[in-house]
Amino acid sequence: MSHYDVAVVGYGPTGVTAANLLGALGLRTLVVERDPDIYARARAISTDEEVVRVWQRIGLADELTRDMLADRPISFVDHSGRSFYDAAFTSRGHGYPPQLFIYQPALEATLRQGVKRHPNVTVRLNTACQGIRQRPDAVELELPDSTETARYVIAADGGSSPIRGQLGIRFDGRTYEDRWVVVDTVVKRDWPGCDRLRFHCDPARPAVDCPTPLGHHRWEFPVLPTENEQQLTEDVWRLLARYGITDDHVDILRAVGYSHHVRVAERWRVGRVFLAGDAAHAMPPWIGQGMAAGVRDVANLCWKLAGVLNGEFSDSVLDSYEAERKPHVRATMNRAVLVGRLITERRPAITKARDVFFRSLGHRAWFKQLMIKRSWVPEAHYRQGFLIRSRAAGHKIPQPWVLDAAGARRRLDDVVGPGWAVLSRHDEPDAITVLPPGSAARPGCVVDIAGTLIAWLARHRAETITLRPDGFVHSSRKRIP
Ligand SMILES: Cc1cc2nc3c(=O)[nH]c(=O)nc-3n(C[C@H](O)[C@H](O)[C@H](O)COP(=O)(O)OP(=O)(O)OC[C@H]3O[C@@H](n4cnc5c(N)ncnc54)[C@H](O)[C@@H]3O)c2cc1C
Repeated sequence: MSHYDVAVVGYGPTGVTAANLLGALGLRTLVVERDPDIYARARAISTDEEVVRVWQRIGLADELTRDMLADRPISFVDHSGRSFYDAAFTSRGHGYPPQLFIYQPALEATLRQGVKRHPNVTVRLNTACQGIRQRPDAVELELPDSTETARYVIAADGGSSPIRGQLGIRFDGRTYEDRWVVVDTVVKRDWPGCDRLRFHCDPARPAVDCPTPLGHHRWEFPVLPTENEQQLTEDVWRLLARYGITDDHVDILRAVGYSHHVRVAERWRVGRVFLAGDAAHAMPPWIGQGMAAGVRDVANLCWKLAGVLNGEFSDSVLDSYEAERKPHVRATMNRAVLVGRLITERRPAITKARDVFFRSLGHRAWFKQLMIKRSWVPEAHYRQGFLIRSRAAGHKIPQPWVLDAAGARRRLDDVVGPGWAVLSRHDEPDAITVLPPGSAARPGCVVDIAGTLIAWLARHRAETITLRPDGFVHSSRKRIP
């Protein structure tokens, strides 16, 4: 029997991000994954700037973004293919484009490659965890050929999480009746509009039509009540023909049926076991946030586990994981449901009114801002958790380009580093001083090249902030005491 600090069950995007984070934190980590290889079905196609920022912390953002498509146009189109609303996202200042398209198997391959940098992480593929047993000091994991123990377990074992089942945790919410056929293709020849995400808001049959990187393209179609899903997946050319796509344009990689869920686990922690990713929540894909939420989960949890295991904090700090993450997941889910309603509305009179409404307001800046505010992923603001109540606490700071002590232009997180940090507008012992644009670089300081961080601090009435390792503010002060 080997003894680990943390065991991660499931090596999907949540598990592999956790493995990278735990590896970088120096924890003795075991990963067990039931399947022999990466799940071949593409699933996620989109992510956002904050998620890429998490991957920056594990040193993989540059490599991952090379395989992404950034800032492609997004149109909501009517039954005739005419746009009634062109969405545009504005960056929240995390240092990457606000929205990026991905090819999930390629992304997971790069993340798995990243884990190989960490000799403290053991990965066992083709190894199903058959059950867990909690002891006061550790958790035993039953594997096919051994029993391993770990002080804590992250159950990143997907939407049907066997560990969630074993722990008897309810997965509250609903599964939609409509099934969707997801078609992934390889592009052979371009066609007009193939570079943009189009939500075909056609009451007869809504559809998603999205470029994905590395020469792929994705469509998603609902199975109509009168149709047979099996037949439809075998005859997707008929669905593609509606948009003028033939075997001249694409080769079909796969066509698979999926259900949409809106579910949240009733508890995310039982003793030493934490649910993360789809094991903890499942949401419809409309704003591309299922995988993203899993990445945010482990970005919140892993450094806390390290802190407890290293004796810096008490175990009760780990309760802040669910307290902080759950409200954001619920808010994100509500947005996804709202956008889904907009796209999948089937009553012709309502879709007509929708199209007219968006056409009349969609070009106005305030309306676009309102749409981002109401329909895009909400900014996380932890109101309770592992923080000290103050103006900026619970917010994630932006990540501008700064000049480091040597005058080199770098992303803020790369200068601040992976641990706790204090940033201040004034010289303070052990703090990094944030200097205004145009200042000369000097040791112990960063120059805020465009002044965005200073503006953010002023907006949050903070002159000194203590930053957690996940980039969220733990506490803030207005004046030097
Ligand atoms: C059609 C579709 C489109 C989507 N689009 C997006 C999108 O654009 N953006 C986005 O962010 N998300 C999207 N999602 C959601 C996203 O794909 C999932 O949220 C994400 O894959 C979940 O990752 P995970 O690691 O939590 O779980 P999974 O990827 O399901 O991984 C769980 C892993 O656990 C393993 N496992 C299970 N049981 C055991 C066991 N007993 N022992 C060992 N291993 C086990 C499984 O084999 C699996 O590899 C989409 C989903 C679908 C279906």
